[in-house]
Amino acid sequence: MSEEILHTGVLVIGAGPAGLGVAAALKRAGVNDLMVIDAREVGAAFRNWPRQMSLLTPSFHSNSFGLTDLNAIDPETSPADFLRTQHPEGRHYADYLQAVATHHQLPVRTGIRVSALRKEEGQFIADSNKGNIVADYVVWAAGQFFSPREDAFPGAHHALHSSKVEDWSTLEGDQFTVIGGYESGVDAALNLVALGKSVRLLSRGEPWSSDHPDPSRSLSPRTLDRLRELLRASDKAKNLDLVKNTDVRQIEECEGWWTLRDQDDIPSVSKTRPILANGFHSGLGPIEPLFDHDKNGLPVFSEEADESTLVPGLFYSGPALVHRNALFCFIYKFRARFGVIALEIATRLGKSEVDEKLMPYLKAGFMNTDLDCCTNCECAIDPTDSAPEPESFAS
Ligand SMILES: Cc1cc2nc3c(=O)[nH]c(=O)nc-3n(C[C@H](O)[C@H](O)[C@H](O)COP(=O)(O)OP(=O)(O)OC[C@H]3O[C@@H](n4cnc5c(N)ncnc54)[C@H](O)[C@@H]3O)c2cc1C
Repeated sequence: MSEEILHTGVLVIGAGPAGLGVAAALKRAGVNDLMVIDAREVGAAFRNWPRQMSLLTPSFHSNSFGLTDLNAIDPETSPADFLRTQHPEGRHYADYLQAVATHHQLPVRTGIRVSALRKEEGQFIADSNKGNIVADYVVWAAGQFFSPREDAFPGAHHALHSSKVEDWSTLEGDQFTVIGGYESGVDAALNLVALGKSVRLLSRGEPWSSDHPDPSRSLSPRTLDRLRELLRASDKAKNLDLVKNTDVRQIEECEGWWTLRDQDDIPSVSKTRPILANGFHSGLGPIEPLFDHDKNGLPVFSEEADESTLVPGLFYSGPALVHRNALFCFIYKFRARFGVIALEIATRLGKSEVDEKLMPYLKAGFMNTDLDCCTNCECAIDPTDSAPEPESFAS
């Protein structure tokens, strides 16, 4: 291991949308003593998505009307404009992230993995495979994708986590069991059925029937559209079995068969390796102890600037952000805090005219200090009943 010691004013850990977005805001606020590091490469999570997967939040180049593209990470760029598509595939979205990093000349260094972080005598020391990095402020933006919940119940490791699939067409077999009925599980099922396979999807509840207005708590319109399209295609519909209210608690493997047991200990058998689409750990990983946690075990972030309430100077950007029980797990949600974090750090560093410099962030909704607005998702009008009844999804 190299003993090189690096110093920086602000260390951003993770070069995904959260880290690059905050770094661009910091530069805009006048912070140039800045370093972005990544264990892998820019946009690594997106480059590792299954080949068939695309963003479910739509991209549209509406910036000039003050409505920044939902998947943009700064107020002045648009993945729709850059990629010419509405639902970018992961690897293409990673190209957009790289283009933003290049455009803003962000100081990104790849191949540096942080394994521990501590604060001593007012400075942060990040232990990495390239030696220690010393910083005055740290923004943790390491995402969740590389922390799949593969240990959620006994035998879960016998399943294949959906995030580990590079290409659905390479899986052998004709009949699959998918565990998890939210976005990743339904996406897996739809891709497998499109490839001519049959799929039994086991879900704790019945997310395809939920009418919760927050897409963090129900299936997105994009996924519901895809489900409806499949169910209308009579030749394909029979290949998808949506099984609700099934909580898989255990998996056993024996001689090429997998036995799944639910909450009532009722067994079912899969002849192919079950696919586990149960999401990810929070992603705070090695810095989890540096954040306080609420009674539900969720990390606590300061409402002022998403800072640790235990360790001043340590900020968080990304999908584990939660305020007042509202999840910020989409890019359009957590980007609303990029300007807030940048304003706080730049101000503490004594930078001048920070508010003015960050005005584009404020105008575009990337500097949202009013958390009330993000916690009430009720729509003023009732959903129309012109769409197929949700019940028609259930078997
Ligand atoms: C299946 C799926 C579908 C999704 N669809 C959408 C969607 O349609 N729209 C949407 O808005 N969001 C979507 N999301 C969520 C979105 O992908 C995440 O919110 C987003 O990737 C989070 O960005 P991030 O920068 O925090 O994390 P990431 O994109 O994961 O980036 C984190 C980076 O940190 C690096 N890193 C990790 N650990 C370390 C370490 N210890 N040291 C150094 N570097 C490290 C990683 O290599 C990685 O490059 C989806 C997520 C999943 C899993």
